[in-house]
Amino acid sequence: MDLFTLHRKELTENLRKLGIKDINVLDAISKVKRENFVKEEFRKYSYDNIALPLNSNQTISQPYTVAFMTELLEVKPGDKVLEIGTGSGYQSAVLAQMGAEVYSVERIKDLYLSSLEKLRQSGYSVRLKNDDGTMGWEENSPFDKIIVTAGSPRLPRHLLTQLKTGGRMVIPVGDETVQKLMLIKKSMNEEKNEAVYKAKEFENFKFVPLIGEEGWQII
Ligand code: SAH
Repeated sequence: MDLFTLHRKELTENLRKLGIKDINVLDAISKVKRENFVKEEFRKYSYDNIALPLNSNQTISQPYTVAFMTELLEVKPGDKVLEIGTGSGYQSAVLAQMGAEVYSVERIKDLYLSSLEKLRQSGYSVRLKNDDGTMGWEENSPFDKIIVTAGSPRLPRHLLTQLKTGGRMVIPVGDETVQKLMLIKKSMNEEKNEAVYKAKEFENFKFVPLIGEEGWQII
């Protein structure tokens, strides 16, 4: 067994001890090669449970964060999942490994191009777009699940609209320094024929800012 494979197994066990229960999430993390998604100089830290720097001042999320958010989504094979903030492509790979049909939007061209390459090389088929993800991905909507991997000041309206009835969205909401992870469940009020959104708050996390039309504005 090579060292990365061993470390990947240790990380998975560590996440289980930290409270991650969804066997499909743990299984995906035990299979996706995170070393292929981190920058060359940080490869040796691939399986430390920490966020790592990417180009353009962005970060690949901490494995615990990826596992926690993915668990909240309750991903099933065949689910149509929209991710906002492709970054390294690692979260997309985890979702694809779980059998989801993944769509991911990244606003920074350089990261879009490198994640496209890395996902292709790793054998994952994920649809990527270089755009402002706060507007969602209208042509491919509605989605069973939406995951936002950057911190937002609010719930972007287009993302709520592009969620299926019965769907789930996970999004960090807060200010620039700290955000609360929120789980939104969408249902339908049949009598009034209008969508109902139920929100649940989880622990604090620190994400890079979601910049765009319905996120933070660039000054
Ligand atoms: N899911 C990523 C985490 C990347 S960090 C991973 O697994 O590596 C969050 C990413 O969100 C950054 O790459 C940032 O550029 C991107 N981002 C910020 N605002 C965005 C927006 N409005 N639309 C799309 N991507 C955005």
